[in-house]
Amino acid sequence: MKRVYFDNAATTMLNGEVLNEMMPYFTSIYGNSSSLHGFGREATAGVDKARDLIANCIGASSGEIYFTSGGTEANNWALRGVAYANLSKGKHIITSQIEHHSIIDTCKQLEKEGFEVTYLPVDSTGLVSISELLHAVKPETTIVSIMAVNNEVGTIQNIRAISEIVKFYGAYFHVDAVQGLGVMPLNVKEMDIDLMSISAHKIHGPKGAGALYIRDGVKITQFMAGGEQEKGLRGGTLNVPAIVGFGKACELNSRNLSFKDKKLFELSSYFMSKVDYEIPGIRFNGNLHQKANGIVSVTFEGIEGENLIMLLDMKGIAVSTGSACASGALEKSHVLSAMGMTDDLIRGTIRFSFDINNTRDEIDYVVRVLCEEVERLRKASPIRKKKEK
Ligand SMILES: *Cc1c(COP(=O)(O)O)cnc(C)c1O
Repeated sequence: MKRVYFDNAATTMLNGEVLNEMMPYFTSIYGNSSSLHGFGREATAGVDKARDLIANCIGASSGEIYFTSGGTEANNWALRGVAYANLSKGKHIITSQIEHHSIIDTCKQLEKEGFEVTYLPVDSTGLVSISELLHAVKPETTIVSIMAVNNEVGTIQNIRAISEIVKFYGAYFHVDAVQGLGVMPLNVKEMDIDLMSISAHKIHGPKGAGALYIRDGVKITQFMAGGEQEKGLRGGTLNVPAIVGFGKACELNSRNLSFKDKKLFELSSYFMSKVDYEIPGIRFNGNLHQKANGIVSVTFEGIEGENLIMLLDMKGIAVSTGSACASGALEKSHVLSAMGMTDDLIRGTIRFSFDINNTRDEIDYVVRVLCEEVERLRKASPIRKKKEK
């Protein structure tokens, strides 16, 4: 059976060059990077090189990169760490209504622990309202956390404009750039970002490796007790092979960014025009002028997205409703909801996310299957039938 993977916002395939770079660290270079002997130093050299590559990729210095188990941990740490280290300034946190669950859920916990959180609304395209931010920010605000690129609809936020306001009020600015890293150049110095979360597996690196960039001087608490790793802030033996792979993935990512963007623009434009032409009753979500080219969110009116996903899966096609975390839970998307979409439209929404390895042939196949299945589902829908009578 044909197999088509259009779920690259959930995770990406490991790059072959990345795997090659990692291999020796699974076999001959197995030292603990905290050990003082030669075996340890060999592992440390791999970690140091990766740290340099990652720092380079985002315009940070190597000492500002702290390894974590991924984007989720980096997001948890940024919020908790800054919130608790800056109690003397205040207990107010600002984020948006469309953040990843690792941000939203951490904020919910912090609220229970006595912090005040403002969840900024977004417009119908998923852009955070700058004027709402201006109204919300106050002297007690310690951290503002806004994502660079939304994982469900691909909308790119105005990070530079937001950072100017945040810095004016003396708060720290955190960016969840997990989805943004593979989409656009991110320079923490130019964009005036204090903390930034990134993850390897969204840019063809291994799963289970990520980092939090923490600008020198930012007041933050330790995340994991138990060792002197990562300057004593995040204890635990480093996952050396994954970190080495993360470094390589970052290096390749920076090198390929503009080529990738162009290719993804061509692929997604082709897909969108085909879907638009062939299937009635659809709409595209997100900000079409300010969007990750690899992410296309489509609403098929009058159908259940979950059903369509299962039918596509039977034809070997992998897509999702938006966030990998929500897909099992049958919980409606908080992102689409914040963008003002009705429950019916949210239920009919599917995310297609592309990679440069995808082809027009694959798109032709998927659109053909979509045409058939969407029509069948609509015919079977009791709501439709009632309306037609
Ligand atoms: C995938 C994702 C995360 C979580 O990263 P993991 O490394 O999978 O924990 C966080 N934020 C966004 C925007 C993501 O897309």
